Amino acid sequence: MIQAKGYAAQDKSSELAPWNFHRREVGPHDIQIAIRYCGVCHSDLHQIRDDWGGATFPMIPGHEIVGIVTNAGTHVKKVQAGQWVAVGNMVDSCRICDNCRQGLEQYCTTHISFTYNSTEQNGLPTYGGYSNIIVVHEDFVFTVSEKLDMSAVAPLLCAGITVYSPLRHWKVGEGHRLAVLGLGGLGHMAVKFGVAFGAEVTVLSTSPAKEADAKALGAHRFLVTRDAEQMKSAAGYFDFILDTVSADHAFDPYLALLRTNGTHIVLGLPSEPATFRLGNIVFGRKSMAGSLIGGIPETQEMLDYCAGHHIVADVELIDMKNIYVAFDRMVKGDVRYRFVIDMATL
Ligand SMILES: [Zn+2]
Ligand SMILES: [Zn+2]
Repeated sequence: MIQAKGYAAQDKSSELAPWNFHRREVGPHDIQIAIRYCGVCHSDLHQIRDDWGGATFPMIPGHEIVGIVTNAGTHVKKVQAGQWVAVGNMVDSCRICDNCRQGLEQYCTTHISFTYNSTEQNGLPTYGGYSNIIVVHEDFVFTVSEKLDMSAVAPLLCAGITVYSPLRHWKVGEGHRLAVLGLGGLGHMAVKFGVAFGAEVTVLSTSPAKEADAKALGAHRFLVTRDAEQMKSAAGYFDFILDTVSADHAFDPYLALLRTNGTHIVLGLPSEPATFRLGNIVFGRKSMAGSLIGGIPETQEMLDYCAGHHIVADVELIDMKNIYVAFDRMVKGDVRYRFVIDMATL
């Protein structure tokens, strides 16, 4: 076993604190990674507090992982020691269901091994990226171009792929009017990708103060959702709304902004069931859709696209010990646009 250290929650009411644990030995197809950066995702906080139920402890969160290969199994060909690599939301899946065979591991119907608060295929618990070492099967490790700023690559592994995948699935691009609802970790990446894909991008936000930020990220237009006049003038305007809001919210006001055949794509997981008037999708043949992260091939495709187009996240680098300062600011939406832990400070 490999001795490792991380920040773990021992139960749902305790705070993250240093914890020593073990990673498995490097098998023939495994890659051992010295973690250098880990992004702070809102779901990390939800999971350590067991907001969604079913949490298992001790729990080390973190699924936006970038690091350097320190050891590779005898059969590993894709990387060498010293190379930068990344790990996202998943560390394994059943590999044989229809979805896994199509590279849609995120929709595995049998057993997804999420990076933390989950189990390996052999049933042992998984521990995430708020730690110094991780051992992952090579099929779930991504290569990263060294041209990119590695701390700013980390959020691509969850925030990035979560918006990239639906934009690709619905073929959003030139000639489309894309609305991005919410300008946080996901939203700011949605603006960058939407603009790169050639769409006309509008940020929808409750806060007029975010207009300058939205435009600085490349958004073409900005709409204050609390302004009834602006909402009215945008009725029937958009082809797609990418909804990154994870808090409970109304849907009818946004469905009104879609043109005929428009699609509202939900990415967040509000705790309450969604309610909206079915008439608001029946009239206009509109769709209410959802999307979860992205598969393994698509995540590598996204990282390669980012390398080719110099796209990374906007990040604030923090020390591990300041994680609760980051959580507090994240909950208030006070971050441009993703906190990333410098794992050298662990
Ligand atoms: Zn995440
Ligand atoms: Zn599967």
